Amino acid sequence: MRLGDLDALLKLVPPEEIVARMAIMNAPTVEARPTGEWNEVEEGCGWTEILCAECSVCKSTFVLGEMTIDDVRDNFKFCSNCGAKMKGEKVRKNE
Ligand SMILES: [Zn+2]
Repeated sequence: MRLGDLDALLKLVPPEEIVARMAIMNAPTVEARPTGEWNEVEEGCGWTEILCAECSVCKSTFVLGEMTIDDVRDNFKFCSNCGAKMKGEKVRKNE
């Protein structure tokens, strides 16, 4: 399956091409998944001073516990709260 931008495609089809425009407007769609990254929150999640990981998209946090931020980045490719696809790059907050 190839994913594309139906709105951009629709702009390329002249108004008189009604059948083509209807096909594009009725084509199945999927929600674009946001892309984010895990950030380490050194000051804690708000309710604890324990290190936490924070989703850069929805700002939800969870306690790292025994894990490091790199473990989270290596093992959690999606945010369980908002579904964002997480970048694998090891980017530190405040850099
Ligand atoms: Zn999220």
